[in-house]
Amino acid sequence: MRTRAVHAGRDDLADLGVHAVPLDLSTTYPSRDSRDEARRIDVFATGAVDPGTPIYGRISNPTVERFEEALAELEGFDQAVAFASGMAAVSACLLACVAKGKPHVVAVRPVYGSTDHVLSSGLLGTEVTWASPESLAAALRPETGLVFVETPANPTLREVDIAALAEACGEVPLLVDNTFATPVLQQPGRHGAGLVLHSATKFLGGHGDVMGGVVACGAEEAARLRQIRFATGGILHPLAAYLLLRGLSTLPLRVAAASATAAELVTRLRAHPRVRAVHYPALGGPLVAFEIDGDPHAVIGSVRLATPAVSLGSVDTLIQHPASISHRIVGEEDRHDAGITDQLLRMSVGLEDVEDLWNDLEQALKTSWRAC
Ligand SMILES: *Cc1c(COP(=O)(O)O)cnc(C)c1O
Repeated sequence: MRTRAVHAGRDDLADLGVHAVPLDLSTTYPSRDSRDEARRIDVFATGAVDPGTPIYGRISNPTVERFEEALAELEGFDQAVAFASGMAAVSACLLACVAKGKPHVVAVRPVYGSTDHVLSSGLLGTEVTWASPESLAAALRPETGLVFVETPANPTLREVDIAALAEACGEVPLLVDNTFATPVLQQPGRHGAGLVLHSATKFLGGHGDVMGGVVACGAEEAARLRQIRFATGGILHPLAAYLLLRGLSTLPLRVAAASATAAELVTRLRAHPRVRAVHYPALGGPLVAFEIDGDPHAVIGSVRLATPAVSLGSVDTLIQHPASISHRIVGEEDRHDAGITDQLLRMSVGLEDVEDLWNDLEQALKTSWRAC
């Protein structure tokens, strides 16, 4: 994984005589041969990829294609399609269901707050049935276009058995949002998922300075997603693709280091008298969710090293209160049913020294029980 994370999408650079990934910012590509342009437009209209020069920035971009190639390889798929954000990727997958005439989606809670919202509201013309892994097979209908799951899930870190779920799906494609695990810890495609989605904004970028989304899948699904991306315009900026490729190079190292620190913090949190429950995936990883006896808002207000902010997957540790921020948009009852209690805090562990993080957490926890 480490080798391919550094080289995937970049294997041709030495032969090109360049070291850094070429960043192509062109919005349009001049050509004196409009007959050939016509032929290539016809190819692109089907969602296929033409190996020739690009035509227009909303159709394709060479730097973005490098990122897509790299991510597809790391997730073990033939292709990947990159978007302007994780939610642009989610939306394209839902629009693909509608376009296929299969607008029914079965989903397992919890999922990311905005994903929950776009599914619950039916904003894009889909209809959702919320199911448990056990009731999933019974929820499928002839017009079911997709089964949607996150594992480990945002924000409770609840895990599902991807292989068992894929089997229960039968012919219906299973989409796994793999943002939390990253391909370093889990490659859902190897367990039967047909589509693997990332908010690239999180671990793939890894430095809190780039937004993006990506779906790894087979050639047929990729063609449909490219058609939708061309029509709706939710493309990844080439500079974002450049930064995401840079992020991929260190992804395995960042995930390994942050996971080791997270595991140590989990041990200490479990032994803390004011911590009611600690949720940590069997898979490991840099994310920790924990419920405290005291006031969670006081913890957010008192951390001095950890960054009190929504989002995750950055080099610095981020902590947030899901009921107030990431899952605020989900109704209170649905939130509680999904295990997102008001006492729950979600922490994305970064690359700081573990002792510094623990000192910060401990003093913040002290203020939280003084506050109640
Ligand atoms: C953040 C997130 C998203 C949405 O991604 P954006 O890049 O913010 O649009 C989707 N799924 C999960 C699990 C996330 O954490």
